[in-house]
Amino acid sequence: MKGKVWLVGAGPGDISLITVKGMECIKHADVLVYDRLVNPELLTFAPKHCELIDVGKKSDHHPIPQDQINQILADHAKAGKKVVRLKSGDPYVFGRGGEEAQLLVEQQVPFEVVPGVTSAIGGLTCAGIPVTHRDHASSFHVVTGHLRADKETDPINWKALAELDGTIVILMGVANLANITQELMQYGKPADTPVGIVMWASRDKQRVVTATLETIVDVAKAEDVKPPALIVIGGVVSLQQMLDFSAFISDPAQ
Ligand code: SAH
Repeated sequence: MKGKVWLVGAGPGDISLITVKGMECIKHADVLVYDRLVNPELLTFAPKHCELIDVGKKSDHHPIPQDQINQILADHAKAGKKVVRLKSGDPYVFGRGGEEAQLLVEQQVPFEVVPGVTSAIGGLTCAGIPVTHRDHASSFHVVTGHLRADKETDPINWKALAELDGTIVILMGVANLANITQELMQYGKPADTPVGIVMWASRDKQRVVTATLETIVDVAKAEDVKPPALIVIGGVVSLQQMLDFSAFISDPAQ
């Protein structure tokens, strides 16, 4: 068979939340290229001969630059390999998956994308937070909290978000929590709006803290909140305690 790249979403972390097709891809990979947030347990399903390449990124430094990652994918596929590019959540949600796919098109490498459960929705579900609810939110808005250093070029319209009633989900936002809450309150979002932070959603080490727009910065400090985490803002967070099912999780086969 000719080489090809599969861009595969690994889901939010719990290995059983990868899709059936995603798992098939791992089981038949010649080369597996993976990120820092991918649960390492998934790598154990790769065949013995499979080459594992860690291109894990931390938010403030990139061990392997994106163009080099792109080239690794293309080169191995051109050498006739089945390349699986395993990315956390869904490959096209803040994962630069689109850029990887573009390069493959430019280099005429066949590729396929296998969607995954994004942490932005499924991660909240695992933590007991429904992203919409008839009584609380009829829309949701997923944004990056990785603000540009220069405020003028910040691509996020915080004023518009503050004025909307929908649930706001922020990825990569922990370092900017104080700025974000400040912006939203400044634009009129009520200070008592519920806020939740979900760390390591769906993993055994999942942890949730809740507070309000006004108090979350202090609570996050006191609770030692660290990335990876999802910040959720809106009335749906008030349901978290009631809908938290973490104590009941079990294997359906048992
Ligand atoms: N493509 C991924 C997102 C990649 S950006 C997806 O669809 O989920 C990386 C950010 O996603 C992290 O900084 C964090 O904000 C969030 N994230 C991913 N997995 C997470 C998890 N299990 N728990 C909490 N946050 C997570």
